Amino acid sequence: TAKRTVVSACLAGVPCRYDGNCTEHPAVMELVRAGLALPVCPEQVGGLPTPRTPAEIVDGRVMTKDGQDVTGEYEQGARECLRLAKLAGCTRAVLQPRSPSCGAGTVYDGTFSGTLIPGFGRFAALCRDNGLELVNPDDLD
Ligand code: SF4
Repeated sequence: TAKRTVVSACLAGVPCRYDGNCTEHPAVMELVRAGLALPVCPEQVGGLPTPRTPAEIVDGRVMTKDGQDVTGEYEQGARECLRLAKLAGCTRAVLQPRSPSCGAGTVYDGTFSGTLIPGFGRFAALCRDNGLELVNPDDLD
């Protein structure tokens, strides 16, 4: 049977990114069309507005570019989206790279300079810790 997959909603055409944009990633769209994907946006579910001030992980906290600590919103959104993914029987996560929520393996370094370092966004880390397989969208079959 085909795997059920939780996906970043911004890869499925939902304009939920911090800047109000999104993409329609062809392989992610195909999973949605097939009824095999659950699109979620942890930042919106955590109560943040769109558009919103960009945030990066700074010393383990999630901080907006203007210095607000939004770790609580990020963690609440991550927990709630994990709950939905488990409810829907998802065993795999296909997430938007580099995001402080969805980035899996690489994130920005907290200096808002576009510099990447190894690391995980809050939602990606929670998915990993709960046994979901993390797959880069560009590596989907
Ligand atoms: Fe996309 Fe995830 Fe950011 Fe939401 S939190 S906009 S789903 S990368």
